[in-house]
Amino acid sequence: MQDEVTDKQRSLKNYIELEKLSGIGEYFVAEAVSTPKSDLSSLKKEVTSCRRCELYKNRRNVVFGAGSPKAKLMFVGEAPGMEEDLRGLPFVGRAGQLLTRIIEAIGLKRKDVYIANILKCRPPGNRNPLPTEILTCEEYLIRQIDLIKPKVICALGKFAAQTLLRTEVSITGLRGKFQEYYGIKVMPTFHPAYLLRNPQGKRLVWEDMKKIKRELIK
Ligand code: URA
Repeated sequence: MQDEVTDKQRSLKNYIELEKLSGIGEYFVAEAVSTPKSDLSSLKKEVTSCRRCELYKNRRNVVFGAGSPKAKLMFVGEAPGMEEDLRGLPFVGRAGQLLTRIIEAIGLKRKDVYIANILKCRPPGNRNPLPTEILTCEEYLIRQIDLIKPKVICALGKFAAQTLLRTEVSITGLRGKFQEYYGIKVMPTFHPAYLLRNPQGKRLVWEDMKKIKRELIK
């Protein structure tokens, strides 16, 4: 069993390498830009019936995303947890409450921003997202971003940051520095769930949020 997982992971890693070389990410973006403009609610309908990966089997709800479709600031997390799966809304558990306070600390409300995740369905037992799940689900996020066109994306934690920025650099190495995602500024920072376990990281997240605030008023 262990060998099987390792083999699978190895071939996925190769696939991701291939994906990087062949520019499938760019392909999705080109598709999103060139297909007739849908809107967030029709995209939500499409995602709600998604069965592209195994995660649909255990979900109670698809967690599409929530907030203002005109948001200048978008947060991208990892995947829904138990609370989010039950309510169909992103970041409504303990980590979500902390995210709400982080948003309010820069003078905004949840309704002013848009909040989404890399994965739209909860991985069983909150395990880490698998590379295939990320690849399969990423197209929806790309289309969400294309419709919302935020000025800044705040990538919460390793999975969001590494997926958007196509890198394997650690979140500690990435956080605090703006990078670009198809012309949109991306600020990687620590995930609120990490902050619940490591409150000393809050000071650094505050530094990152101040940079975001400055960027938004430019
Ligand atoms: N953690 C995430 O990454 N996303 C959520 O929606 C909730 C917790």
